[in-house]
Amino acid sequence: MSKPLSLSKIIKRFQTTWQELPDHRHPSNNTCYRIADAAASAFSVFFMQSPSFLAHQRDMHQHKGRDNVATLFGVENIPSDNQIRNLLDPITPDHFHADFAWVIEELERSGQLASFQAYAGTYLIAFDGVVFHSSEKIHCENCTTRQDRSGVTHYYHSAIIPVMVKPVSAHVLSLPPECIVPQDGHEKQDCERAAVKRWLAHHQPRYQPHTVTYLGDDLYANQPLCQLIDQTYVQFFVFVCKPDSHRTLYEWLASLEGADGLETRQDRHWNGKHGEIWSYRLVNQVPLRAGDDPMMVNWFELTITHEETGKVIYHNAWVTNHLLSPENVSQLAVVGRARWKVENENINVLKTKGYNLNHNFGHGEAHLANVFFTLNLLAFLVHTTQHLVNEAYRLLRETLSVRRTFFNDLKALTRYMVFASWESLFAFMIEGLELDLPPP
Ligand SMILES: [Zn+2]
Repeated sequence: MSKPLSLSKIIKRFQTTWQELPDHRHPSNNTCYRIADAAASAFSVFFMQSPSFLAHQRDMHQHKGRDNVATLFGVENIPSDNQIRNLLDPITPDHFHADFAWVIEELERSGQLASFQAYAGTYLIAFDGVVFHSSEKIHCENCTTRQDRSGVTHYYHSAIIPVMVKPVSAHVLSLPPECIVPQDGHEKQDCERAAVKRWLAHHQPRYQPHTVTYLGDDLYANQPLCQLIDQTYVQFFVFVCKPDSHRTLYEWLASLEGADGLETRQDRHWNGKHGEIWSYRLVNQVPLRAGDDPMMVNWFELTITHEETGKVIYHNAWVTNHLLSPENVSQLAVVGRARWKVENENINVLKTKGYNLNHNFGHGEAHLANVFFTLNLLAFLVHTTQHLVNEAYRLLRETLSVRRTFFNDLKALTRYMVFASWESLFAFMIEGLELDLPPP
């Protein structure tokens, strides 16, 4: 029986949708390779986290007449790296956005997404920007550029990578990225803001009103974006709010402070070694910016101090359109702090394990770099969903993560043997490790 969202089901679905990818080849060209095979082959490299995966499987096919790219990723003929580049380069990365959406919808159908609902029943979607290509030489028509002082041009690719987070879980769900394009401008801040607006226009309509709390750092705490989320999309936000970039708001706070206009709350926590004092200050309805028509937002801060020494261990402040009270402020601080996961989980995994895979594949002339980046994030999403829904995967991952060998074992096994399916590969590993699958 095929379990909900089994790897086989996901791969089958991707194979079907990828057959519809636009094929930019002229009819006279050699069209023996399917476009879906090119996409699935590239995806397989990111999913296996192995730059040499395809080369090994081509060898294997030559010797055994069979290979794991066929059995595990549904690829009829493995194209050469060059052919993969040529086939995928003209395709814009948004062609893969529906694959992310489908995975998330399947999680919702299977009841797994409900566990991601946090404060006031909302999903927490954290925005963050990332640079995934930087070079003085390698570039394409979609690189953003910057001249340094000595006149040297630097080429970049960056993107907004929204992820669904939950405060108590290490898992984050990658949502479709929004690649920053040269038209977005030159300043990091302008680029990220433009890309976030584009992301919201494309993807926010999937969510019912009042079902999402968007999280982000200080650069998102600006009036146009906050108004867009609050009024146009009818959702919530919790954005970091720093004094340097919000002078008017902090002047207002200072005047309230003197007049005793800020509410407070204090909790004591034991961290296992010493006591901590968690002090909150909060106020509703303060102006986000100067001028005639400022948006009124709700502000809160958390300061954690060492109970004995009084030393500040942590401090941060946020603005939100959730109504604040001394009763809910600690929960909203948990929401605001859930943003750190973007940096710790998602980006680090990709930076240390994933991004370097792009280098092995090449950059392309049009969209290839952005397509590979998108497929990389999609692979990451599929791994996370397997951790959530697939008992065998979870057992193996948790057993082998301790020994840091999950991906090395996958590489080694698929180099020497052909497995008929993901299920048989996982069953082989579980048996070899003498693990017991818990009863369903
Ligand atoms: Zn480029």
